[in-house]
Amino acid sequence: MKRTVSDEMFEAARRVIPGGVNSPVRACRSVGCDPLFIKRGLGAVLTDVDDNEYIDFVCSWGPMILGHAHPSVIAAIQAAAVDGTSFGAPTPTEVDLASLVVEAVPSIEKVRFVNSGTEATMSAVRLARGYTGRNIVVKFDGCYHGHADSFLVKAGSGLLTLGIPGSPGVPEDIVKNTLSIPYNNLEILEDTLRQKAAEIACVIVEPVAGNMGCVPPAPGFLEGIRRLTKELNILLIFDEVITGFRVAYGGAQERFGITPDLTCLGKIIGGGLPVGAYGGKAEIMDCVAPDGPVYQAGTLSGNPLAMAAGIAMLKELQRPGVYTELERKSARFEEMLNGISRATGVPTQLNRVGSVMTVFFTPDPVSDFESAMRSDTERYGQHYRQMLSTGIYLAPSQFEAAFVSMAHSEKDLDTAAKMTEWSFKKLLE
Ligand code: PLP
Repeated sequence: MKRTVSDEMFEAARRVIPGGVNSPVRACRSVGCDPLFIKRGLGAVLTDVDDNEYIDFVCSWGPMILGHAHPSVIAAIQAAAVDGTSFGAPTPTEVDLASLVVEAVPSIEKVRFVNSGTEATMSAVRLARGYTGRNIVVKFDGCYHGHADSFLVKAGSGLLTLGIPGSPGVPEDIVKNTLSIPYNNLEILEDTLRQKAAEIACVIVEPVAGNMGCVPPAPGFLEGIRRLTKELNILLIFDEVITGFRVAYGGAQERFGITPDLTCLGKIIGGGLPVGAYGGKAEIMDCVAPDGPVYQAGTLSGNPLAMAAGIAMLKELQRPGVYTELERKSARFEEMLNGISRATGVPTQLNRVGSVMTVFFTPDPVSDFESAMRSDTERYGQHYRQMLSTGIYLAPSQFEAAFVSMAHSEKDLDTAAKMTEWSFKKLLE
């Protein structure tokens, strides 16, 4: 597979962009290769600048649930662009998208649009702090909530471990208010919340973790968080930037029947354009400026192109059978991959919720950050490179999810499974 143009472009990019990329994982360092430069996406297929084609399981890290360049989404963006790209004033489309989100997501009575998932979580936490008058945020090890200072806390080592900044440039004074505790462990959560209740503004959680690879909530985990936060008067924030409109139309809260106080969205609701959103009970959302004192703003927030793309996307997702189809295809893919693991003797753990999945290279179940870290990342790297050489585009890290989209055909999934079998056999050579 020729990669001359990608390699040249990466060299040029490194001269003018730190690491040659605009988001670190794209540099592909953990899988031991350089990035491909993509010139086109259509349906399930990406084409790189050397004209190689790949079946894409990254899907722009989640947003492209309909596949790339879906005709309805593209038509909506084109129609909106003709009328101007930004006004910094209210537009009808933002009301339309807000109404669709309010109808869809059980916890959301009012919603504010921002420009990324990071802005959504950052703003939701500011709101939780403003509303409760408390400072501490409880998060879970291995959950990623974007790159705002409060969330960049090294995976905590246990009960009440106060945050240590996970990056230079993040003041200790900020992350001392972030507690990180193990995912899927209600006992530690209960101890933490009971000990510090008077200081805790909120618990923020990915209802299905997607950023240590896919880790589903253990039975009772989300119910337990809801019960405890309600009892102790602490706000519960679901970070549904990945799961929103992905694991069900109404997100993980619909799928699992748990209603948080606030919800963060991103990815799918922008149809591939830069969008985030946070919303929740009207009583809490009314504390946001200008109705309330908690400040949050954005020059490009509610951007007309992004709103149009989001509306087109959600309307497509409302079509009957979309989520049944995603579930059916993904379950069949899971079955094929598990069969290959058994037949070849390469030990893996496949975690899946709907069309989000991760194949971990470990023989043991993966239920939290610690167990995810037991995966053989060298082996994943080799598998990644082998798959790429056959035209299958996976996430360039063991600790990311793969996404199945409406655009993946049965043939695409059969091809990916066949290549997986070939790659697994090669891993044992
Ligand atoms: N929250 C979750 C669960 C995410 O997966 C991400 C990004 O992957 C974010 C927040 C941050 O979103 P963004 O990259 O749009 O800032």
